[in-house]
Amino acid sequence: MKNSGGWVGKILRVDLTSGKVTEQSTYDYVPRFIGGRGLGAKICWDEVPPEVGAFDPENRLVLATGPLQGTLAPTSGRFVVLGKAPQTGPIESFCRSGVGGHFAPELKWAGYDAVVIQGKAPKPVYLWITDHKAEILDATRLWGLDTYQTQQMIWKLHGPKTRAMVIGRAGETKSRIACILTDTGDASGQGGYGGVMGSKNLKAIAVRGTGTVSVARPKELMEISYRIQKLFSRKSLKSDPYQPDEKDFKFNIWGGGYGRGSLSLLPGELLDLCNSPSSGYSQTPDGCFACPVSCRSRVKGPDITPGVAFCAQSYMYLESMVHQPEKGYSKVTWQAAKLGDLYGINAYELMAIIPWLADCFREKLIKEEEVGLPLKEIGSWDFISKLLHKMANREGIGDLLAEGGQRAAAKLGGKAEKLSHMYYPRAGKFAGYREHWVYLGGFPTGYAVPQLALMWVLDNRDALVSHSYISALWGAAFTVGQNALTAVPEKIIPVLKPVMKAAYGSEEAAEFVRPDGKRLDWKWAAPVVKRYHEHSLLKDCYILCDILFPFLFDANAFDHVGDLTLESRLFSAVTGRDMNLEESYKIGEMLNTLERALAARDGRTRQDDVLYDIYFEKEDAGGRKYQREDLERAKSDFYQLMGWDIKTGIPTRPTLEKLGLKDVAEGLEKMRILGKKS
Ligand code: SF4
Repeated sequence: MKNSGGWVGKILRVDLTSGKVTEQSTYDYVPRFIGGRGLGAKICWDEVPPEVGAFDPENRLVLATGPLQGTLAPTSGRFVVLGKAPQTGPIESFCRSGVGGHFAPELKWAGYDAVVIQGKAPKPVYLWITDHKAEILDATRLWGLDTYQTQQMIWKLHGPKTRAMVIGRAGETKSRIACILTDTGDASGQGGYGGVMGSKNLKAIAVRGTGTVSVARPKELMEISYRIQKLFSRKSLKSDPYQPDEKDFKFNIWGGGYGRGSLSLLPGELLDLCNSPSSGYSQTPDGCFACPVSCRSRVKGPDITPGVAFCAQSYMYLESMVHQPEKGYSKVTWQAAKLGDLYGINAYELMAIIPWLADCFREKLIKEEEVGLPLKEIGSWDFISKLLHKMANREGIGDLLAEGGQRAAAKLGGKAEKLSHMYYPRAGKFAGYREHWVYLGGFPTGYAVPQLALMWVLDNRDALVSHSYISALWGAAFTVGQNALTAVPEKIIPVLKPVMKAAYGSEEAAEFVRPDGKRLDWKWAAPVVKRYHEHSLLKDCYILCDILFPFLFDANAFDHVGDLTLESRLFSAVTGRDMNLEESYKIGEMLNTLERALAARDGRTRQDDVLYDIYFEKEDAGGRKYQREDLERAKSDFYQLMGWDIKTGIPTRPTLEKLGLKDVAEGLEKMRILGKKS
């Protein structure tokens, strides 16, 4: 097929067992599966049957870009890692993890849309990709190095412009929560794909490319990009990263509530040092390739490990200390995050594991002398350095924790397991992911939202609610002058109405609380969550950043309605293939069904889409709580909307055939699990 723009046309195939490197045409999969998450799902459906485990050589490690990578489309510096995930459990299943930074455009410029790795090398190796060729090279000297040292060695060997995805000790020891790191902080965090690399004896993937990516309609791309730039650009980084300095202008990150450098250092000792001109410490704006926001900052100082401050990596030890907020953000907090990066441990998991350990210690379920950790000193360097060392090397309690928080808790059982439910809402056999906003304000987001509960049970990892749906709720809260985490629903609903109408087709979609204020309204949960999945999938196929997209809520517009056409317009301009919103949603629906079929093939059914009891027991600030029967009804509504079997939650033949997935229907039928009727 002739390409006019976007894809570069080749997928690199690497078999580490045989040492063979081959190429495949990207057009075997696109434009139908677009790229990123769609491309990875199709490859895994075709090549990773249920009997293949995450650490088996036959598992595929897919690094997939989309059509926008390598162009100047805003936030297109990203790609997705996919495959059977060791973190999902107790049954391992297909999952995905997005990565920012600069690796993705480099891969495209080297001539590849994706890399698919299978097999297991007989000894440690790394993959070196440069302009239309790739080699498997000896990594004996790299094995055992931390993630920074590994990258430094690669720069020494292949030049400082090389971009690399590397694992640390946690990946080498096949931790189920090991990440793959690039530069000084961007990572494929969730999923445990660092452990998959370790299981393949693959220490690093390095790339350098000098080619280009053609754009079908460059003028159109520039116009849309300029609009996005204006909507999201940030100003210089100053002392208070949370307050825009122009009174009437709000930065459109997370509903306009956050300003420039919104994911930079939190107030505390280190920020004070950075703001003191003669201290020798500094933080400067930093972002992924082609990003107008640059949401994080690069931090350095005489006695700290340099790195990037953003999201989970930076806040890990602080959020872990939910029981000791008075400790604040210190140099220790920073060093803890960087040590996790050096070992290559998923910081987001640590944000659940550490407070859970504190809970277990408080309840006298574990003792310091038994686990060999100073649990009284959570928040100290002594505690975190010992914990991370044990986890990375699988020593003592670290061996259990390297399995991930939810698996570790299940192994301890009893009250220790129950305590973990606060951080891991989804029960069932396809869990393993700490969810967003599970404990802040005493309840998710400070108040119960039916849509949120449904998102939690249906996703194949943690639902990225804070970056889309919840950002609109936050935006509405800021608009009425309320705290985003504790806003009164009745006050924000009027602001949300036009936003929800534009996104989901009806103002009623904003009404998640009944008029009496006492009960939750589940009526719109299923349609909202269906569209949420479509937005999320499309964003991960094109590929764009979930801090900006989908753009639901415009803090500066009179009606606060965002612009949901931005992603498909970028796609159309780059590829020259016109895609309107409705067409894109159909592709999102097809991909959501394909991902569900992948999970169903691994054994997932309606019984796995469940929350732990605690989520039906706790009340929010308004005295409302989730009711089990409401969630069950919303699940039925969702399966019905998707054309899946209501009883099992598995797609049916008519639905699969309508979506062009006849081969998937055949596969499910062969296993005798095909959904019967919707
Ligand atoms: S908003 Fe932040 S994470 Fe997203 S692309 Fe920009 S710099 Fe990267």
